[in-house]
Amino acid sequence: MLRVGVPEYRLPTWIIEREVADIVDLGVDLRLNSPVTNLDDLFVQGFDTVLIAVGAHEGIRLPIPGADLDGVHINTVFLRDVRLGQPPRLGERVIVIGAGDVAMDCARTAIRLGKQVHVHYRRSLVEAPADPEEIEHAEEEGVEFHWLSNPVEIVSDGNGAWGACALCGWNWASQTQAGAGAPCPCPVQSRSSRARV
Ligand SMILES: Cc1cc2nc3c(=O)[nH]c(=O)nc-3n(C[C@H](O)[C@H](O)[C@H](O)COP(=O)(O)OP(=O)(O)OC[C@H]3O[C@@H](n4cnc5c(N)ncnc54)[C@H](O)[C@@H]3O)c2cc1C
Repeated sequence: MLRVGVPEYRLPTWIIEREVADIVDLGVDLRLNSPVTNLDDLFVQGFDTVLIAVGAHEGIRLPIPGADLDGVHINTVFLRDVRLGQPPRLGERVIVIGAGDVAMDCARTAIRLGKQVHVHYRRSLVEAPADPEEIEHAEEEGVEFHWLSNPVEIVSDGNGAWGACALCGWNWASQTQAGAGAPCPCPVQSRSSRARV
């Protein structure tokens, strides 16, 4: 994930290579291109203990209509393809849904590909899970943030590809409606709009 997930501008390849070299120098036997498909084989090979650390690479698609259209990309796949020098074809205007650290990586990567980037997040800045510094840097680089804005549908342009993202504004339910200390967003019809992407 470090090599093909975290963007190069945040974690240059030379640092990863140096770290791996340090680990190998400690005496670790690094076996590349060796997928483990059967744990029993490892015990047969003489290992007594197996620590499984296979990571969590799978992104998830939003459960909204249009989420599987062409032009809708999964965060980790998008970052991997860019890092491997095979960026997917993007339109000029890109919407990133969510405001966690990986969303910031996607937004800042798309900015580096020369796109206009809009981040839409259903809650507000204070609830955004991303590191505040990442959000600040993204803003400085030209990413536009749309808080309390929740994409509810990705609309095809008629050619099987996406053309627009239907958005629904959200605001906060009162504390009493939502329960103590747990305000939750609720849809506001009047703020519904579409963003061409
Ligand atoms: C976009 C992005 C940005 C991130 N930024 C940061 C950050 O700034 N700071 C931070 O601390 N963390 C960050 N993280 C999280 C960090 O990358 C992960 O926490 C970390 O990589 C997890 O390490 P891991 O070894 O558990 O899994 P991974 O790094 O995913 O490594 C698992 C390895 O197991 C291999 N593997 C899988 N299946 C098999 C198999 N059957 N046989 C053999 N090998 C197998 C995989 O090929 C992979 O090499 C980021 C993650 C992402 C996606």
